[in-house]
Amino acid sequence: MIDLRSDTVTRPTLAMWEAMRCAPLGDDVLGDEPTVQALEAKVAMLLGQDAALFVPSGTMANQLAIRTVCEGGDEILAHKESHIIHYETGSPAALSGCMIAPLDGTNGIFDAESVRSAIRHRDQHAPLSRMLIVENTHNRGGGSYWSVEQFASVAKAARIGGLHLHVDGARLMNACVALGVGPRDFTAHADSVSVCFSKGLGAPVGSALVGGHAFIARARRFRKMFGGAMRQSGILAAAAIYALDNHVARLAEDHVNARALATHLASISGLSLEIEPAATPTNMVFFRVSKALGDAASFCQRLRELDVLALNLGPDRVRMVTHLDVSASDVDRAAAAIQRVATASA
Ligand SMILES: *Cc1c(COP(=O)(O)O)cnc(C)c1O
Repeated sequence: MIDLRSDTVTRPTLAMWEAMRCAPLGDDVLGDEPTVQALEAKVAMLLGQDAALFVPSGTMANQLAIRTVCEGGDEILAHKESHIIHYETGSPAALSGCMIAPLDGTNGIFDAESVRSAIRHRDQHAPLSRMLIVENTHNRGGGSYWSVEQFASVAKAARIGGLHLHVDGARLMNACVALGVGPRDFTAHADSVSVCFSKGLGAPVGSALVGGHAFIARARRFRKMFGGAMRQSGILAAAAIYALDNHVARLAEDHVNARALATHLASISGLSLEIEPAATPTNMVFFRVSKALGDAASFCQRLRELDVLALNLGPDRVRMVTHLDVSASDVDRAAAAIQRVATASA
């Protein structure tokens, strides 16, 4: 099987398993998990923030940030296609009582003026605008990334408007590798950041929430409340440390493979790419299936019969993601399978 559904599907490499097996362990809830503490210190340093908190998932990291900062009735500004709106089960409303003001913008990127105009006047009628979320890379935006300048200008608008700036950086390292910048070029302007170890970095489980000392201390209480405090979680943290040490630079290979895949797809009639191959930003390729080829779900089903897995994300929309367990030759084989399905259905 060539699994292009997501970069979450990777299995630990042998070296990663070895790092997990050898990790010194303690009890993180009792405060003596050495490997978790080492990971938290490492991530805080990498992102230029005071402290970090290891959590089971990216959703929990984002929701802890919201719960730590917002009160019921507060409003959060986020792009209308953002992960927290579409893929976190409505939890800003359920867990923190917040509403979201959806912002427009191409491929998940918006400008400072959109932020300024969405901030409410302080008035007894209006919700309080409390937080801005910037997703980088942007998942439903096709793996698009923010330029450092675009990011800095919305960060400035957030600061002037009194908003807490949270970066949903599940794939922040993909953005950094694509741009050739360090994570601090983004995170220096942020109040909190979430990063995922189980996406392109290839660890089996886990994310980190990063921010100031007081913020993380408060988030730690909510992590316990949400059921995310873990015990010998150094087994997982060891995989994340290994991933940070060994799997960041190689994200560039995933980007090359995604572009190669996009180039193949561009030549297959009946498929239309959302972003041209030359502009494929990181490790994702989105395309639409023409009516003549049937719907996206049946297209993916026929691909599955040829041992290629893709995700259908709408009636005619398909997503493919490259990662650690997909080689350049896998991309060629997947492209050949896609060509066969498209030709057979035309
Ligand atoms: C994957 C992802 C998350 C977190 O997802 P989990 O499955 O909860 O780890 C958050 N934000 C974005 C943009 C993502 O792609």
